[in-house]
Amino acid sequence: MSTLDTQSIHAGEPDPRIEGAVSMPVFQTATYTHDDPDDEPRYVRYNNSPNHEALHDKLAALTQTESALVTASGMAAISSALLSVLETGDHLVAPRSLYGGTLALLDDLLPQFGIAHTLVAEDTPEAWAAALQPNTKVLYAESITNPRLEVLDLTGMVDFAEEHALTTVIDNTFASPVNLRPASLGFDVVLHSATKYLGGHSDLAAGVVAGASEHLGDVHQTTKLLGGMLDPRACGLLHRSLKTIGVRVRKQNATARALASALADHDGVERVHHPSLPSHAHHDRARTLLDGFGGMVGLELAPQTDVDPFFDALSLPLRAPSLGGVETLVSQPVHTSHKNVDPAVRQAMGITDRFVRVSVGLEGPDDLTEDFTAALDAGLDG
Ligand SMILES: *Cc1c(COP(=O)(O)O)cnc(C)c1O
Repeated sequence: MSTLDTQSIHAGEPDPRIEGAVSMPVFQTATYTHDDPDDEPRYVRYNNSPNHEALHDKLAALTQTESALVTASGMAAISSALLSVLETGDHLVAPRSLYGGTLALLDDLLPQFGIAHTLVAEDTPEAWAAALQPNTKVLYAESITNPRLEVLDLTGMVDFAEEHALTTVIDNTFASPVNLRPASLGFDVVLHSATKYLGGHSDLAAGVVAGASEHLGDVHQTTKLLGGMLDPRACGLLHRSLKTIGVRVRKQNATARALASALADHDGVERVHHPSLPSHAHHDRARTLLDGFGGMVGLELAPQTDVDPFFDALSLPLRAPSLGGVETLVSQPVHTSHKNVDPAVRQAMGITDRFVRVSVGLEGPDDLTEDFTAALDAGLDG
């Protein structure tokens, strides 16, 4: 069982099948009879129902890790993981371009536990070294950043962390396991918002923590105490969705690439951001590190393009936050993911109200290109 496609179908499935059921049944029960006191009780918050266990095995296979745990959301995964690997007095180093919820966790909640952090603007060993403190414990990364789709120097981060005995934690939501398995680069703990590409249909919230069993035991215990476990029904939806992750994400990669290259020369855009474009700052690095360039595209509208007529003219994409689903979604990060970021900081990060984030869905690539081209034309006329 070597390829991701085969694993997505067969890894973690009960053998023999339960009552012969081809698809994993959902056990909608909170508790289980406990007849042998020597056994660990099965209880839904302990993440040990048959639905959780099947999902954990499938996710460990897909992420190429020893062990995986599903949680109630991506933020439950991130908070449980960080509260497990960090203790009072510890310090974390991360790039500045983090997911908004993660930034808020680092700024507002972790300091209450005596956990500090430093954000770095540059993605270089010199910058990480300058941020290092005697109590630094974790180097934190995101594999493809939001919304400018930068690809960090992930191998450099792992080397640096080894040199300084740091634990590496990475949020791999944007790449998905189809395009990158960070554990194979040496990352210790891998996080996903499964609400995005793993779920893939914008119909569930879930998260994943994966990594070496050494770390996962602690995370399991923390999740048990914080209570951020996944309901069995959502486990069933996620389990179903994982079987199509390969075909979905590869199609999204291809459509995003086609859309990015079709729009790159349009007068209505100042710049198209997608790692597949040779103009992207990290194109070469993305080619080396990733199996696919991802389904997210950033459009920086030209000064002569009016934003509202552009959005009004789009007929296929839905205007909504989130990403990774079958419907193409568009949003303005200034109003969604980066709403609470200081405007001056936002400006420094290159995120203006003319920046449009596109999560490419599974519509026909030509239909999408036609729709976006017409909307840019409307923006220029507006
Ligand atoms: C959405 C997202 C999260 C948070 O996930 P939820 O499932 O909404 O809790 C974390 N990291 C990244 C990169 C995301 O896009």
